[in-house]
Amino acid sequence: MPDVTEATGETERWAGLAAIPGLPTTRASAGHEDRARELQELARDAHAYLGDALGTAFSPTVVVAAPDDWADNEDGAPYGIPYASETELVVVIPATAADNPLVDTYAQVASREDAARFADLIAVHELGHLHVRETGLDLPLGWLGELTATYLSYCFLAAHRPADAALWVRVSRDHAAAVTPAYRSLEDLDGIYFDVGPENYIWYQDTLTAMVEEVHAERGPAFVLRLRDAGLTPASDTATTLAAAEAIHPGFERWAATLRR
Ligand SMILES: [Zn+2]
Repeated sequence: MPDVTEATGETERWAGLAAIPGLPTTRASAGHEDRARELQELARDAHAYLGDALGTAFSPTVVVAAPDDWADNEDGAPYGIPYASETELVVVIPATAADNPLVDTYAQVASREDAARFADLIAVHELGHLHVRETGLDLPLGWLGELTATYLSYCFLAAHRPADAALWVRVSRDHAAAVTPAYRSLEDLDGIYFDVGPENYIWYQDTLTAMVEEVHAERGPAFVLRLRDAGLTPASDTATTLAAAEAIHPGFERWAATLRR
């Protein structure tokens, strides 16, 4: 549990925004309270599901920030890309779909309404990152960290928001098919990460969803607990993370080989 009396960084950064009553702790830019309440409900249900499934217990903060607040507070992160704090239990979500570059990206292959919903659901992916970390699974930046966050998000959506789960899969698949990526391998994602470029990075995220859907059907949230016990560290290389996933669910190595072609 974070010690709120020593809150700094992300938590303190957002302290000036309005507090939305209820849990999880939610802060919103002025004028975006209704949307913050909707996202709070989504985050609350996902957080309860994941806590039950994983045995994780912590108090996240959800921030719904408008461009002015985001720009004033966030050093360098482009507006609209949701993120989870690396060190604190904070998920930051853009307040306005109209300014969100991810909505424009996904609206190339879906209705604007579906693209906006997809972008909102990324909040659950970000919450997934926090739950992965709180299980004690400390992963390198790269494919397995992104896969596990989407994995937990998808487990929740499939169980409690099946229409959203179907939308997530459909939009991911259609966007992946519309992009010709320069980089395709998990090794490249691990080595280059966001510097593969925004479009290629989103292609990777889309592509992970296909494997998430397959593994989820057989393994459920316990997949992440088994990974936690595999001895991975932030220094583990791609071959090591892939072997750990393969040991739990045969098929990862074959899938990774199809990406490399
Ligand atoms: Zn992520």
